[in-house]
Amino acid sequence: MAALPENQHTTAHAIVRWYESKTQDHRPHMGASIIGHPCSRYVWLTWRWARTPQFPGRVLRLFDTGKREEERLLEELRGIGAQVWDTNPETGDQWRVVACKGHFGGSLDGVAKGLPEAPKSPAVLEFKTHSAKSFADLLSKKVQSSKPQHYDQMQVYMGLMEIDRALYIAVNKDTDDLYVEWVHFDREHFENLLDYAQGLIEMPTPPDRISADPANWQCKGCTHWDLCHGGIAAEANCRTCCHASPVENGAWHCDHHSKKIDDATQRKGCGDHLLIPALTPYAQAIDGGASWVAYKHRDTGQVFVNGKEAVEGYGQAFTSKELQHCPADLLANAAELKEVFPGAEVISGGLKQMEWNTPEDLDKVSKPATKRDKVQRAKIAESLRNLERLAS
Ligand code: SF4
Ligand code: SF4
Repeated sequence: MAALPENQHTTAHAIVRWYESKTQDHRPHMGASIIGHPCSRYVWLTWRWARTPQFPGRVLRLFDTGKREEERLLEELRGIGAQVWDTNPETGDQWRVVACKGHFGGSLDGVAKGLPEAPKSPAVLEFKTHSAKSFADLLSKKVQSSKPQHYDQMQVYMGLMEIDRALYIAVNKDTDDLYVEWVHFDREHFENLLDYAQGLIEMPTPPDRISADPANWQCKGCTHWDLCHGGIAAEANCRTCCHASPVENGAWHCDHHSKKIDDATQRKGCGDHLLIPALTPYAQAIDGGASWVAYKHRDTGQVFVNGKEAVEGYGQAFTSKELQHCPADLLANAAELKEVFPGAEVISGGLKQMEWNTPEDLDKVSKPATKRDKVQRAKIAESLRNLERLAS
């Protein structure tokens, strides 16, 4: 008997969907927790909000498990008699550290004193949960070698808190075994990390890809795969706009509107958004003006403009929002649609699906159809069929 499709109306599915319904958003700062990521492009793209993370519900639930484990470990440390501060007593808020003019930093799990191995010394606390395989690797290699990203995170926290040691507690999710390691401050390593973060913050364009292979193990599960390997542009928000730059105190400035842009504005962007050319990796920038950039598609040779209006000789214009939703493969179809149906625009989508104004809507916005239009519309019908095929 053929296997029955999995029932989508179960309690388990509902829970997973509940996690997925929560907003997955960007962090304002470059996080100490990712500075040790092996791909510097990942660190830059994440900080510049190139693609919003879209973790499946199961993974979001795993993150939640990690957060809950932190509470438990804090309670257990208190239970063995340590003094534990999970918030800063001066502010009552979570411990936060910042550097690089406010653009780099992170939040600590806590600070503790009175721990059995060093009763008089304060220590930064860092808690992580691990799969059995990862836990075994940690036991055999220790944190610096097994989990360099965690090691770097602790070096940043120790350096910015001016505390010379950290207590790393790892939990094996399969068995609840604990692994505890004392990590000591390494000033040179810390300063190198700060220089590296500052260098990334000052870069107006992203570093190169870690690999050109879409199946590279680092790239396969990466939030930015669609951008680096999938032929789609970055999302349109102020962080991906060539008019924005980071300034003092963790703030951002828009050169186009000559003003500082607050967090809410940055997330929305505006109609004058112009993509940083490197964030349309499938095309080469060939010309530009104050409010537009012309591109040539690297595979097809198609020319197009990122901007609000077409520029003579450079094909159809696409706003940054449209490029965010229109895969490179479909750009030629999109240009044809725009030619025949002025006012038509890509309104949502991505690599796996895309939505258009319907042809009926398009008829309404179009100028009256000429004979040439009608011929072209037959071609467009074919394009739409292609779009539907690719979207399904
Ligand atoms: S997809 Fe690969 S190259 Fe791109 S940011 Fe992720 S890890 Fe780096
Ligand atoms: S032009 Fe608009 S999208 Fe670009 S930085 Fe300024 S406010 Fe943001």
